[in-house]
Order: sequence, then structure tokens, then C-alpha cells
Amino acid sequence: MFAPSPSALRSFRTAIRRSLLPWFAAHARDLPWRIEPRPPYHVWVSEIMLQQTRVDTVIPYFHRFLARFPTPAALAEAPLQDVLKLWEGLGYYSRARQLQKAARILVEKHGGELPADPVRLAALPGLGPYTTAAIASLAFGLPLAVLDGNVMRVLARLFAVLDDISLPATRNAFQRLADALLPADMPGAVNEAWMELGALICTPRAPQCGVCPMHRVCRAFKQNAVDAYPKKKKKEKVPHKIVGAAVILNPKNQILIAQRCAEKGMLAGLWEFPGGKQEEGETIEECIARELKEEMGVDLEVGPHLVSVHHAYSHFTITLHTHFARILRGRPQHLECADHAWVTPDQFALYPFSKADLDIIRALRALPSPPRLKDYFPLSG
Ligand code: SF4
Repeated sequence: MFAPSPSALRSFRTAIRRSLLPWFAAHARDLPWRIEPRPPYHVWVSEIMLQQTRVDTVIPYFHRFLARFPTPAALAEAPLQDVLKLWEGLGYYSRARQLQKAARILVEKHGGELPADPVRLAALPGLGPYTTAAIASLAFGLPLAVLDGNVMRVLARLFAVLDDISLPATRNAFQRLADALLPADMPGAVNEAWMELGALICTPRAPQCGVCPMHRVCRAFKQNAVDAYPKKKKKEKVPHKIVGAAVILNPKNQILIAQRCAEKGMLAGLWEFPGGKQEEGETIEECIARELKEEMGVDLEVGPHLVSVHHAYSHFTITLHTHFARILRGRPQHLECADHAWVTPDQFALYPFSKADLDIIRALRALPSPPRLKDYFPLSG
């Protein structure tokens, strides 16, 4: 495991003060959560939103979220559905649920404020080491080094580390290195400078070494071998699932939507066009009919195709085939869903949906007129 010598650490610390920090002061992006002094709540919300998500995607969500929930107390007392609606399209919805859970704990145990104590911060739902270090350093000036994939990439190149960064032992070694490089007098600025360098200059592909403030000390640059770092094992191919979903129309031309229950994991609490995963040997129509029987206890007639959409989640991808359908027998029950509603297309805006379901809504809105039962099932009476 790599461990830089004390003299190497000294020269990197000097480069951080003399080159990295002045570069950051001159080039830091003007982002809405970068106001001074930093409200801890703003740091927290922005850091949670930025997980796995691009800065330009997050900015409008951040503004809307802060306008609706300006304090942890406002977030704590809101209905979960309102929180999910503001998160709609941002993905990784468990972040929103955890954020609200943590806000409720802040109100109950911490007077509605984030505590300036890393141990208490880390005990809140949804706060891992990275978010804890970001809030502690940026909002409270505490010397905790942030470490994520971006910072590890920068450090791997600066110190020419060839250890596999996907291994926990390598991550621990990088954490020790980042801690050793962090000056106690300005931890927030250095943490943010690393993040900014990784986002703007030392990018995964085609890093701009020519304008990098750290190029004089960068070992990968000196070796002319930047592309060799960081080393990580090849990503395994993610599984692909075929999913069927139904736009179920009733005689009033309303559409059935269902709320996902807690057992459905990552999208729990969101609303959807009901359906599920295709099993071996099934047609997509058979899949939709089976899923609706299992989830809501209704027998369906599955009709014409509306749209097929593709979507990538962190650990799998899906193709979602959507068909119009009508109920032949039964009333919707909540066998494998939390709730259901019959809505008109203009009421979709009241419910939070995942990105894939928003694509179905877009396809419905692109129809020449709102769907009517008799257009798709002329014999339905
Ligand atoms: S010199 Fe190049 S590889 Fe080294 S830190 Fe800067 S951008 Fe990254």
C-alpha cells in the first residue's frame, strides 16, 4: 500500500497553498450553494443532491427545494409526497426519503439545526463519510478530508498510485493521504478545491494538465502516463430487464396509477403505471396481465402498444414496454402496492413519478388528444 514520504507530503502541502488554493480562488464556479457564510442546511441539501448527479442538473432542483423547504423544520413537517415531487426526475429517491428522515431527527433532537459534531452528523440517515466531511469542513470549518471517486482520481494521478481504487484498503489509504494533506486552518477551501479540480481540470478523460495548478508536482504528468491512473477493475456488465407497464383506461377515460410500496425498494413512495418484470417465456402482454393480477387483483385486456422507453439505474438497465389496457374483472386492490388513483392526464402533475414513468407521460401528452377507452377498445361498450 502506498505511503508518501514526509518530504513528499511537505512539497504537496506547499503546492496546495501556493498553487491549488489561488487557482480555486480565481476559478471556482459560482454555484448557488457557495454563499458565505455557508448555511449548513444548504451544504447538506446540495451535497446529497450532487451524489451521482451532475452540477447543472442539480441547480434548478436546489433552488426549488430551498424555496419550498427553507429550513430542516419545513422539510420535516412536509408530506413525503411533496418531497418526492420536488425530487422527481433527479433519481436515487432514497436520498429524498433519508433527507426528510434526518430533518425530522434534527427537529426532535438537535433544535432543528445540523450539529457541528462529526459523530452526530454521521449518525443521521443518509450521511456517509463523504457528506459528513463536506458538511463538517465547509459549514463548520472542521478538519475532515472529503474523499470520493473524483478526489481519489486526482490523488492517484498526483502521487502515481497504481493500487486498485475499487478496493476498500486503497480507499482507506487515500483517506489517510487526504487527511494528511488537509491544512487545519482552511479545510473547507482545500476540500472544495480538490472537488473543483476533479470536476474542471483533472477529469476522468482528457485532463487539462497544461492549465492544471498542480502539474509541477504531479507524478503521473511527469511520467507522461496520466491515462494509467487511477487503476480500477473493469466494470461488470449490468443486467438488463424487460418490463411491461399498463396505461389502464376506465369508462370515464381516467387512467389508473399505483403507488409503489416500501418493499419495492429504491422507488418506494413514487407513483407509476403499474406493471413489472417480464418472466421467461412470457409475451409482454402476458407479463402485464400477470403483474396486474398479482399487484392489484384485476383481470386485464391488454391492448395496443403506446411507447417503449429505456432507462439506466445504477445496477441495471430496463426497457419498459407500455400498452393500453382495460379492466375486465375486479376492482384495484393494494396487494403489492401502497395506493392507487384514477386520474386524468392533467392530474399527473400532482404525483411524483420516476424518470421512466415521466417518459410514458410525455408519450401520452404527445398523442393528438387525451386517450379515450373507446379509441383503444372499441368493443368495450
Ligand atoms: S497535472 Fe494532469 S493528471 Fe496531474 S493533477 Fe493536474 S490534471 Fe490531473
